[in-house]
Amino acid sequence: MRDDNCIFCKIANGEIPSKTIYEDEMFRVILDLGPAAKGHALILPKDHYKDLYELPENTASHVMLLAKKMAAQMTDKLHCDGFNLVQNNGETAGQTVMHFHMHLIPRYKNDNQKIGWTPGEPSQEELEEIRNQITG
Ligand code: AMP
Ligand code: ZN
Repeated sequence: MRDDNCIFCKIANGEIPSKTIYEDEMFRVILDLGPAAKGHALILPKDHYKDLYELPENTASHVMLLAKKMAAQMTDKLHCDGFNLVQNNGETAGQTVMHFHMHLIPRYKNDNQKIGWTPGEPSQEELEEIRNQITG
C-alpha cells in the first residue's frame, strides 16, 4: 500500500528523515517545511492514499481523532491562540502532494496569515437549487 514514487510515503515510513512530532502504526506527524505559522504540521498516513476520496473510513476516523489529540498537545506546548485544520483534495483545491495529508496549523494573534476565502452572496433560490443538486 506504498507508492515508490511518493515522497510522503518515504517520509511517513522513515526512509526520508523528517521532524517527527508523533508516530504510531498508522500515522506519522511531521513539521511542514513551509509552515504557515510556527508549529504547522502534517498528519501523514503510512499507507498511500491519494486523497480523501481514496482514504478508507477507518483511517479517516483515526485522522480526526489524531488531529484532536495533536491540536490539544500543540496548543498546550506552543501557547497558540487558535488552530486551523486544512485538508486539500485535488490541484484545483490546492493539493500539491498527492498523498493524503491533514494540515495542523496553530494560529497566533498577529500572525498575519490568511486561510480563507472570499464569501459569495447566493440568493435563497440559488441555495435551494444547490441543496437539491447535492441531495437529489
Ligand atoms: P498541500 O498543498 O495541501 O498538498 O500541502 C503540501 C504541504 O507539504 C505544503 O505545506 C508543503 O510545505 C509541505 N511539504 C512538501 N514537501 C515537504 C517535505 N519534504 N517535508 C515537509 N513538508 C513538506
Ligand atoms: Zn504516498
